[in-house]
Amino acid sequence: MSSYAQRPWLAHYGNLPPQIVPEHGTVLDLFRASVARAPDADAIRYFDGRLTLAEVDAASDALAVALQDNGFRPGDRLGVYVQNNPAFVVAVVAAWKAGGAAVVINPMNKARELAHLLADSGATALLCLDELHDSVAREVIASGATRVSTVITCSARDWQTRDDPRVMPQARAGEALDLLDIVDRNAGREPVADPPSPDDVAVLTYTSGTTGQPKGAMNTHAVIAFNAQAFRDWMGLTPADSVLGVAPLFHITGLVGHFALSLLVPCPLVLTHRFQPEVVLDAIREHRPTFTVGAITAFIALSAVEGVSAEDFRSFRLIYSGGAPVPPAVNQQFQRTTGHYVHNAYGLTESTSITHLVPPGASAPVDPASGALSIGLPVFNTVVRILDDDGAEVPVGEVGEIAIAGPQVVPGYWGKPEATAAALPGGELRTGDVGFMDAEGWFYVVDRKKDMINAAGYKVWPREVEDVLYEHPAVLEAAVVGVPDPYRGETVKAFVALKPGASATADELVAHCKEQLAAYKYPRQVELVAELPKTPTGKILRRQLRDR
Ligand code: AMP
Repeated sequence: MSSYAQRPWLAHYGNLPPQIVPEHGTVLDLFRASVARAPDADAIRYFDGRLTLAEVDAASDALAVALQDNGFRPGDRLGVYVQNNPAFVVAVVAAWKAGGAAVVINPMNKARELAHLLADSGATALLCLDELHDSVAREVIASGATRVSTVITCSARDWQTRDDPRVMPQARAGEALDLLDIVDRNAGREPVADPPSPDDVAVLTYTSGTTGQPKGAMNTHAVIAFNAQAFRDWMGLTPADSVLGVAPLFHITGLVGHFALSLLVPCPLVLTHRFQPEVVLDAIREHRPTFTVGAITAFIALSAVEGVSAEDFRSFRLIYSGGAPVPPAVNQQFQRTTGHYVHNAYGLTESTSITHLVPPGASAPVDPASGALSIGLPVFNTVVRILDDDGAEVPVGEVGEIAIAGPQVVPGYWGKPEATAAALPGGELRTGDVGFMDAEGWFYVVDRKKDMINAAGYKVWPREVEDVLYEHPAVLEAAVVGVPDPYRGETVKAFVALKPGASATADELVAHCKEQLAAYKYPRQVELVAELPKTPTGKILRRQLRDR
């Protein structure tokens, strides 16, 4: 038996059992159990608006009915293209109640990205923010490139100031339905659908994984329910807690660590429309949350707001960072300002967020060689191995690819059996991250096998940016890499060789990408070169470009 199988990390678990038995088969079951237990408890606090669990239940019933009235059938997918607001929660629960799944979409996505996700997932209905409908979605739906036949719009102001007359955009008859109107009209009606099973897809979350185009990771009810419970039980969260939503809900960190977790406990989820440090700080001062998880850059931004003090962070019991490395020096600086140590957590979209975390109250060790802060210990029921290029386990302390098996690992990608077989051989997730385990069982990430660029937790895949660059008529060759950035950790840089006789400036190429891609993806720097470095077989030497 290898040392990985002996699981030395168990020694650090303290009183926690190494295995937990999930209480709930589906996320819908756990939501319903919470509604039954505490119907009048706040589910969401959104600026000055509040929604109780019973109100989320009623609104999601109404939306589910309206979806069914418009032809949504069991197994169908509802696209959810909104910022962090109550409509997100209502829509995802409604998709389950109508017998289907949600496809959660980054609201920063532009037309070509939205079209790809809707077409790939085969979504037949879309809930989207009114302003995104006007600027992006309407054109995508009109192009006929997707199967979407029902469009529902909502406003960032919905549920915010219930007594104020809402300044709603006019519902455009025949074009889009309005969410609040649906909730009013269908009050009291209940959808009819068989309850989902644990192995049914609950949410498709798009990621490029280790390679290629965005793929829909199939987050089933079982994997989400399991990891929401793992969060709750490691953190010891109770209904007296409240969760601050700093991560986007469409990303796996927000989906599990905010949305599913708060519905399970149940405890209030404090939301702001988007991450604006001053606005989030106001929400902290008003609602006094006790727990959060998000990218370290969000916490740095909060601690840099003028006038912020440790007093503002007094209500927190625990703060976790996930999605990107936590530089130890940044953590110390945050601790000086706020009095809080940021606990590191690690996971992927394909592992439904956490596989590792630093236990509450523990300080993670730092690897002296790489300077990396440990990502922590594997969570309940999770088995981690470190593999060499041939897939064999390396001895403890040696570096290799991190591979993970556990009840939070997705069964695969939507409609992509080959990509599934490559990323999840035998159901074990090959993460594409390179790291090691020390003798005590602490894990570290020190490098990456995949081409992904990690810009403050937002993942950018060179292929996608390169595809857009190649569409520019002057571009002969393009290679996109991540280069160090003091704030975002990494940023996107493109090296471009132009066609003979063609001309384009670096600024022009940046503008071309900016038009087509979500804001976090376009290259911040473009360097024009005579030619790209290649292997004798013609493969672009990315590492050489990165090291320049
Ligand atoms: P995503 O699918 O967007 O959640 O991205 C997953 C990737 O984020 C992982 O494969 C890692 O490369 C990176 N990542 C997540 N958490 C951490 C962490 N705590 N430290 C370093 N990298 C991380």
